[in-house]
Amino acid sequence: MSEWRVDTIAAQRRPVTGLIGEDVAPAIHSTVAFAAPTVEAFAELAVRSRVDDFYTRYGNPNHAETASVIAALEGGETALLFASGMAAITATVLTFAAGSRVVAQRQLYGGTVGFLEEIAPRLGIEVVFVDHDDIDDFETALRRPTSLVLLETPTNPLLGVTDIAAIAPLAHHAGAIVAVDATLGSPINQRLLELGADIVLHSATKYLGGHGDLTAGVAVTSNTLAERMWNDAYLFGATLSAHDAWLLQRGLRTLPMRVRHQNESASAVATYLDGHPSVVAVHHPSLATHPQAELIARQMTGPGGVLSFEVGGGLGAAEQVVTRLQIASRAASFGGPLPAVVLPARMWSGMGSAAVERMVPAGLIRLAVGFEHPADLIADIDQALTER
Ligand SMILES: *Cc1c(COP(=O)(O)O)cnc(C)c1O
Repeated sequence: MSEWRVDTIAAQRRPVTGLIGEDVAPAIHSTVAFAAPTVEAFAELAVRSRVDDFYTRYGNPNHAETASVIAALEGGETALLFASGMAAITATVLTFAAGSRVVAQRQLYGGTVGFLEEIAPRLGIEVVFVDHDDIDDFETALRRPTSLVLLETPTNPLLGVTDIAAIAPLAHHAGAIVAVDATLGSPINQRLLELGADIVLHSATKYLGGHGDLTAGVAVTSNTLAERMWNDAYLFGATLSAHDAWLLQRGLRTLPMRVRHQNESASAVATYLDGHPSVVAVHHPSLATHPQAELIARQMTGPGGVLSFEVGGGLGAAEQVVTRLQIASRAASFGGPLPAVVLPARMWSGMGSAAVERMVPAGLIRLAVGFEHPADLIADIDQALTER
């Protein structure tokens, strides 16, 4: 299986139950608990780590099968599923903060920044922020013993890219585990465990689920780390429902096809925007003008479906453009059938203006392509950018 291409892995089943005739589509194990045949078997299941057939908060056959497909796509040993991307991220920080020092990049998903700035210090965890594109900055921060290095690549919403192969050895030297939020890239465009990451995190709500109808998170890692995380995570209780785990697997079956379409489509939109006179900046890994184009060529095999751009005139002008768009929905999240457009400065305004200003330019528009034909989306953006 490890030699198979991603299309083949994503489409296959990896069933955990041993029937003779097997369902070609997985069944949904919509059950809270699993009855043991004997009292001895019950006692054995009750103490087994990462058990799939005892109590669904501990594990469930739908979790096991879906997690094993994601682990295979990432080239990792195993994966843990969570009720959301944030649950995967917070479980990672809370499990590995024993030494109480986290080095994190400054450009991170808004929710992750909120957790690291507001909640982690309250729990006695020291967080040091560094620039994702400054290896010297990482080197300095990692001169002290560290528990966890938390990265994100490409970043949401500015599409910054972090050099995992350069940072992982520095982190390991400081005694840290490297966790990377790889949501925007998906396993189709980058395989970060091979570059030295210890944990790859996804908001499966986005590309892995792929249809805008479920919220889930995943951590792909080694058996040893998964065991350590599971020991806390089943008590944190952010359990994915069996139904959503099943739905996530259904989404995974088309992941490679969807992501390839979205790669191409977003590249076409980025190229169009890059040549438009009212657009002052475009951020997408497909562009030769991306400040990290050389790293992108080494680290990514596709650019992803999320891009962001700025129009002259700041927030007011950006709001007008977003108002005029017809195909794109004005909705948070991305990775599903509909293109989605947001003003990050507005979306995260609840975090306080100073925090948002530090993270994103006021007039930034984030656009994620969907399954539509790129020519229709470009025509729609073209009319939205045209002054009337
Ligand atoms: C959406 C997102 C998250 C949070 O995921 P949820 O499933 O909404 O909890 C984390 N990281 C990135 C990069 C995201 O885009």
